[in-house]
Amino acid sequence: MAGIYIHIPFCRKACNYCDFHFSTSLRYRDDYVEALLREIDIRLPQWSAQSFNTLYFGGGTPSQLLPKHLSDIFEQLQHYVDLRKMEEITFEVNPDDITPEYLDFLGILGVNRLSIGIQSFRDEDLQQMNRAHNAREAEAALHTAFAAGFNRLSADLIYGIPGLSDEAWLNNLNRAADAGINHLSCYALTVEQGTPLAKQIRERRSEEPSEEHAAQQFALLQNWAAEKGFDHYEISNLARYGARALHNSSYWKGSAYLGLGASAHGFSAMERYSNVANNQRYMRALKAGQPEQIAEKLSAENRYNEFILTGLRTSDGLSLEALQQLGEPFAKMWLNSWERSPHRGIIERKGNSFVLKTKHWFQADGIAADFFII
Ligand code: SF4
Repeated sequence: MAGIYIHIPFCRKACNYCDFHFSTSLRYRDDYVEALLREIDIRLPQWSAQSFNTLYFGGGTPSQLLPKHLSDIFEQLQHYVDLRKMEEITFEVNPDDITPEYLDFLGILGVNRLSIGIQSFRDEDLQQMNRAHNAREAEAALHTAFAAGFNRLSADLIYGIPGLSDEAWLNNLNRAADAGINHLSCYALTVEQGTPLAKQIRERRSEEPSEEHAAQQFALLQNWAAEKGFDHYEISNLARYGARALHNSSYWKGSAYLGLGASAHGFSAMERYSNVANNQRYMRALKAGQPEQIAEKLSAENRYNEFILTGLRTSDGLSLEALQQLGEPFAKMWLNSWERSPHRGIIERKGNSFVLKTKHWFQADGIAADFFII
């Protein structure tokens, strides 16, 4: 089964830490949706042999689209895919966009899961990060979503924010859990090159987030998850029983996914493509009849590295079967390197899976890199 990802590159405000592709101007929103409809017409027939079970609207901020845009997109998709058979249709929303009417409309379209960009329930954090919403709206968003009948709800939260005490971090987690959320995506605040936050830190107008602070709050998150009965199934993702995100899990399992929209990526067999991360160029190319993309053929070595990187970030672990599908020599190579590695003691073998002990999850990417084929 494969997934479909649709990128909506519009945001009300630019969060200072964000390096995703987005624009704060809505001037070309109609034209962008037109281009997206064309891309659906071009790409979906090429994937006609594929069955899809998840659809994910990410961004940017998908809730910056109007109902008429969404109707057009769903109608176009329905020409190629039976959306009623989708197991999971996720839509990212920001608290400042949520209204009962908008959510009702999403429900009518078949959206059955919301991912809400809460980030923090504290005004000082939200202002520091230049988020468009405030703490009151964050809280209200959860209630509005439940009242609209959505019970598959995920909240994004950020830790390691300068000034966010451990107590305040736990309080953020508790507020989400107490509201009845069954999925959380928690990220450390990081400083990406070229973001307003990087500039503010250079100019000493913002405090630099510290790695130790983030590591400490990640450890708190792990303890909290165990106490509250959340399954911490991937470094950044936690779910109540049965509420794991299907779409994201398929990325980690190496399933195929079709990416639509500016900057979206797609992956199938051993090929990956990425659409141009520029709205004007994206729209121009589709007007001329073809998406502007960079395609790359992935080598088995690339896939091996990716399996290790994603596998060691999950509680299911790295699957030996996945490596065997890549080729028996890769499975053997892993077994040899694991047996000889200084990390052997912290990567447990459980049947055909290799699971990094949770105590070391915060360093998972560095540990995985030690096994890479370079
Ligand atoms: S709303 Fe999301 S995509 Fe938009 S700027 Fe903020 S973090 Fe980035």
